[in-house]
Amino acid sequence: MSRHEQILELEKRFLLPTYNRYPVSFERGKGVFLFDFEGKKYLDFVAGLGVNALGHGHPRILKAIREQSARAIHLSNLYYNEYQGQLAQRLCQLSGLDRAFFSNSGTEAIEGSIKLARLAGHKNGGDSKSQLVALHGSYHGRTFGAMSLTGQEKYRKGFEPMLDAVTFVSQNNVEALRAAVNSNTCAIVLEPIFGEGGILECSEEFLRACRALADEHHAALIFDEIQCGLGRTGNMFAFQSFGVVPDIVAIAKPIAAGVPLGAFLAKESFASSISPGQHGTTFGGGPLACRVALEYLAIVEEEHLLERVSKVGAYLRQQLESLVGIYETAREVRGRGFIQGLVLETPARPIVEQALAEGILFNVTQDTVLRFLPPFLLEEKHVDKGIKVLKKLLGKKRKKTNLPVPAVPAPGVTAS
Ligand SMILES: *Cc1c(COP(=O)(O)O)cnc(C)c1O
Repeated sequence: MSRHEQILELEKRFLLPTYNRYPVSFERGKGVFLFDFEGKKYLDFVAGLGVNALGHGHPRILKAIREQSARAIHLSNLYYNEYQGQLAQRLCQLSGLDRAFFSNSGTEAIEGSIKLARLAGHKNGGDSKSQLVALHGSYHGRTFGAMSLTGQEKYRKGFEPMLDAVTFVSQNNVEALRAAVNSNTCAIVLEPIFGEGGILECSEEFLRACRALADEHHAALIFDEIQCGLGRTGNMFAFQSFGVVPDIVAIAKPIAAGVPLGAFLAKESFASSISPGQHGTTFGGGPLACRVALEYLAIVEEEHLLERVSKVGAYLRQQLESLVGIYETAREVRGRGFIQGLVLETPARPIVEQALAEGILFNVTQDTVLRFLPPFLLEEKHVDKGIKVLKKLLGKKRKKTNLPVPAVPAPGVTAS
């Protein structure tokens, strides 16, 4: 039995059958590449679902982990540690928000965000100010609160009842939004760019309407930037690309370069509603995770990675768009920077599996969307390599007369 077969066999017997994994086990990674147990090398356009923005084995991350793990990995939130305050300060400087809470995951950052919005709502408008507005097609995580906000039947089915205080509206439907938000609304929750939902961007007009309605009704505008935030759009926060500032923003995936950490940041007007004992966590904000997150932010700045994401992201977009011109199955390119999707006419999983055999890692979401969430270290030559394999796999070429009707004009590909 190969090492991969042994791993597969054990998982099959002893794990809850929750995952539909691709048929490969990875042993290690280096930069933008992963290696399986046979030593085969794979170019990574997935980055551990957006977590490994610095790829694998970044020397500064390794050094921070080595040094800090020898000093203290975990201390608990009973005591102060050196790095939680520093990281909060840095994230507040970068976002313009005022206070931070650290969790262990994205889902927990969402849970904390809506708990804070409920507290503020009850303070401003009494017990009835508890309603949440979220978007159809969204994804916010797997706990009951986050799942209740997730506007996709497949994630909720079988687990009902959900929180009953959530109203869903369609993305970019300002009229429906107006009808849904009222004086009992305590929060509007949305991803500025749907990630799992298929790389769909909120329009600036829609986000401005969310901002205005939240202000009018003293509700919290909560952005879930767990996937699109912390650099992936070419700005540190996605909201900086759209010009609308939320009251609360949830972040996670890349923040500590693979060490589990999430956070939400809040404006003082909402943050001041919570008191000691009303929220907490055992693991969140430990010295190792916070120190590594500080290193992540320093590396993104000092290695000019936002500029890289904008530049190579624009190149990726251009290359993907050229595929739409050539292949019958390629319908549309969505997203910007290093959060992009190529929409196909047919299920994308077979393409992902064939690409795996060719040594390229892609991901699929919403069945027909090839999703690209590459590490920020990706270069044009890597894009070329991925595109070359896609060209091999996308099948039938269009006849010249067969070009798709242009969809809604593509949003700006580079960040301002
Ligand atoms: C991944 C993700 C989550 C959930 O984060 P976990 O770390 O898996 O709990 C929530 N919202 C968005 C937009 C995500 O991409």
